[in-house]
Amino acid sequence: MEEQEPFDSTEKLFTRTRSRRSLDWLRVFIFSLITGLFVIFFMSGTLTRLENMILDIFQRCGGLTQTDPRITLIEINEETMDEIGPWPWPRRYHAVMARLLDQWGAAAILFDFNFPGETDPKDDQDFVQVLASIRAPFYLPVEYRPQKDKKFWLHGLPVVFEKNEGKMVWGHSLQSIEKSARGLGHHFFKNDPDGILRRVDLRLSDGVEEFPYLGVLPAAVFSGDKSHKTTELKLAEDENGCVLIPWLKDHGSQFTKCNFSEIIHSYYGIQKGMAPVLSPELIRGKICLVGLTSQSQTLVPMTPLGSETSSLAAHAQVMNAALTGQWIRLVSRFSNLIFLVLVGLMAGLLFMILRGAMSLLAGLFLAVGWVVFAFMVFKYLHLWIFSAHQLLLILTLFVFSAIYVQITAARDRSVLFHLATRDGLTGLYVIRHFRLIMNQIVREVTFRKEPLSIILIDIDHFKNINDTYGHPAGDMILKKVAHTLAAYIRKKRPFSQVDFAARYGGEEFIIMLRKSGLREAVEQVAERLREKVASTRFEWEGKSVQVTISLGVATLRPGENVPDPMVRRADAALYRAKAQGRNRVCSE
Ligand code: GH3
Ligand code: MG
Ligand code: MG
Repeated sequence: MEEQEPFDSTEKLFTRTRSRRSLDWLRVFIFSLITGLFVIFFMSGTLTRLENMILDIFQRCGGLTQTDPRITLIEINEETMDEIGPWPWPRRYHAVMARLLDQWGAAAILFDFNFPGETDPKDDQDFVQVLASIRAPFYLPVEYRPQKDKKFWLHGLPVVFEKNEGKMVWGHSLQSIEKSARGLGHHFFKNDPDGILRRVDLRLSDGVEEFPYLGVLPAAVFSGDKSHKTTELKLAEDENGCVLIPWLKDHGSQFTKCNFSEIIHSYYGIQKGMAPVLSPELIRGKICLVGLTSQSQTLVPMTPLGSETSSLAAHAQVMNAALTGQWIRLVSRFSNLIFLVLVGLMAGLLFMILRGAMSLLAGLFLAVGWVVFAFMVFKYLHLWIFSAHQLLLILTLFVFSAIYVQITAARDRSVLFHLATRDGLTGLYVIRHFRLIMNQIVREVTFRKEPLSIILIDIDHFKNINDTYGHPAGDMILKKVAHTLAAYIRKKRPFSQVDFAARYGGEEFIIMLRKSGLREAVEQVAERLREKVASTRFEWEGKSVQVTISLGVATLRPGENVPDPMVRRADAALYRAKAQGRNRVCSE
């Protein structure tokens, strides 16, 4: 039950209905606003983490598989250390390894560790000599590590005179070793904030010196297809100069692998005239990656495939892409943005046209369709298009659209309710609805034993008014009298005490007064209403019209739990008022 608001409500309703179309512009506006918000998210990288998570799923489900046969991994694992001794090893072992790899025709050698500082002079000299004499190009890393604070000791206590928080510096190998290297590069991996290793910097600088990424350098030894691979690499590079590590489905377990100790054994075997442990074919024409895989000695990157691997294997996988050209390429930022806006537009359009379950289906279809599209493009073209932004955008638009539809539907319902329960001319309740309210309230007040009264009102000699001034004048008077009634009863009370007025018939009205006994209803309301109407100046085309009303008042008697007897008594009272000369109040 709503509080009554009188008059011209129908006209108001029509204007409200007319403004519906402009409200849809509101929806277009809010859709654009939401899409704009996602453009901001996109620009600021707010959803990068989510995009990364979806990329991980793509890599897991549609990962790369092609391994290049020109890569051999020479691993230094726990087993090797058990055999040869704890790390770091005397450099003569590395000298032996470099010599044998060269003799067996390695295309290139890549060390995944460097050789800082001097060790045993004979070992160092031996190693330098071997490196200077071998034909195979070799590549060395330059460590990229945090600079230590500069301090000195005073009476056994450290005094820091230069703090180097977060400052990175290069850690070089011995100069005599470095100078024979074909190339130097960094082999620094940095996990994303969620702890997963996804990208590697193609170039790193400590502010003074810059080094390229070591893993892609040896690919240059197969120079025939170099230019083609460089363009591929360009397409894979993001705006920060990083490439996605193209994780192979099984972390490259397909790569040819051997153990460092097998090389050493083979070398000494050959010296003694025995057959080597390894076949030289594993080495011939291959890029040999030598590095630690022992978990106690090296970084263990967590990969998007949900398992750990060694950094040596990670380098191998980047090198694999450098050889096969199978990078995960990125669409340009601009294209990603266009895709986002297009999806927003499509979703917006669908949600505007369709309703209810259909719009839910369309949203789902669009979301799933987009992800499948992005996945297919990833799987077959190795091209990564964003999809988290699109998914969230579709979801947001859908939720907003659903809320919007609910609100407009509720509004439509309330408009219809108003139309169904109000009288078009006077704006008071129609009698059918009033009866429903009255029945309910009568039940309530009998239960609570509260008084309830009604007043029936009939305009005196209304037929005369119609006859004298015309029907429109009659209508105006009906409206104005209704106005007077509604204004009079509509007191700001708690809802349990609100009074109701309705148009009972042609020029008859009924009022229900809660918490009012008979006497109160007569004296406080009926009599005052009569006076008010009688003293109101009604005017029609410049002529003043005298209007009076007759009123019959009745109250609910104890034991009555339906309103009809009370209404009949009020009717009888009204009849008496008419009979006694009109413009008066009679009570039962
Ligand atoms: P009484 O004092 O005995 O009530 O005399 P009366 O002329 O008012 O008699 P009655 O109540 O029988 O007449 C009602 C008249 O009201 C009849 C009808 O022409 C007129 N009427 C009913 N509804 C409307 C309306 O919506 N607009 C107009 N202008 N007249 C109406
Ligand atoms: Mg009448
Ligand atoms: Mg009348």
